[in-house]
Amino acid sequence: MLQVKNLQFGYNKNHVLDKVNFTVNPGENIAIIGESGSGKSTLLKLIFGEYDLGHGQILWKDTEILGPKYNLVVGYDFMKYVAQEFDLMPYTTVEDNIGKHLSRFYPEEKEKRTQELIRIVELSDFAKTKVKNLSGGQKQRVAIARALAKEPEILLLDEPFSHIDNFKKQSLRRNVFSYLKANNISCIVATHDKNDVLGFADEMLVLHKKTIIAKDTPQNLYKNPKLPIVASFFEEFNVIDSQIIYAHQIKVVNHSGLKAIVKQSYFNGDSWLIEALFNEQSIFISHNSSLAKGEKVYFTF
Ligand code: ADP
Ligand code: MG
Repeated sequence: MLQVKNLQFGYNKNHVLDKVNFTVNPGENIAIIGESGSGKSTLLKLIFGEYDLGHGQILWKDTEILGPKYNLVVGYDFMKYVAQEFDLMPYTTVEDNIGKHLSRFYPEEKEKRTQELIRIVELSDFAKTKVKNLSGGQKQRVAIARALAKEPEILLLDEPFSHIDNFKKQSLRRNVFSYLKANNISCIVATHDKNDVLGFADEMLVLHKKTIIAKDTPQNLYKNPKLPIVASFFEEFNVIDSQIIYAHQIKVVNHSGLKAIVKQSYFNGDSWLIEALFNEQSIFISHNSSLAKGEKVYFTF
């Protein structure tokens, strides 16, 4: 189990993180979400042992994770980290990058394992391609496969699918996260993309103002976001009478006590997002068709 206890850290005298507490069980998938600059990457780097803590303690099982002040070489065998800026060997092929740290004394094992990982990240057609000739998203997939090569007990992923196009994203997420579950590998995913979280994370931590302001399953946080910052992660929402109401929870009806004037309709795939003026404020309504600008609509929620 990973334990993060009362963690505090700043790059200078200003704290980036303060009083951060959470645990991760074996095989658990934990998502850390937060706005850009909220400290997600910093938290992953601290867990990896890249910096010395200001205060607090990080433990994996009985091992205390220590920073560079105490460790000559950063990192531990049981933990792998895929950074936002991944560093691969550019002049080497995809399969050599992935197999780099596997023992060359067992060439058959090494080959089998490398090919398995290449399949998981869907790069079989590029096995012999030099990394420098890959796109950003393909490089990101090589970095993920390489981190998995030596079977870590815990994997830290920083925005792992951010460079990968939408055509591939969903199947890759399913491949990678089900591989981790099947092998009981814990993982912590820092992300601002809800699709990395919904359907995969056992628990979601919301990082805001240096600390964790919400911690629950994605389902519970979605159903009861409590704070606008949490709701905004999921979808378009409104605050009406200090209640958080998602756009899809508002219905346009023939008559009601609530009237709004349509400002704009945005096509949103399976629905339209209607922006309308209500009490001189914009509200957002999810609707099955577009509505004319200036049209009067009644709604309920
Ligand atoms: P996130 O990953 O959530 O976008 P980061 O952890 O990268 O956030 O950054 C958190 C804060 O720490 C930001 O204000 C950022 O500017 C600052 N920061 C990040 N890295 C460094 C660094 N190496 N030196 C100084 N400040 C940093
Ligand atoms: Mg980051």
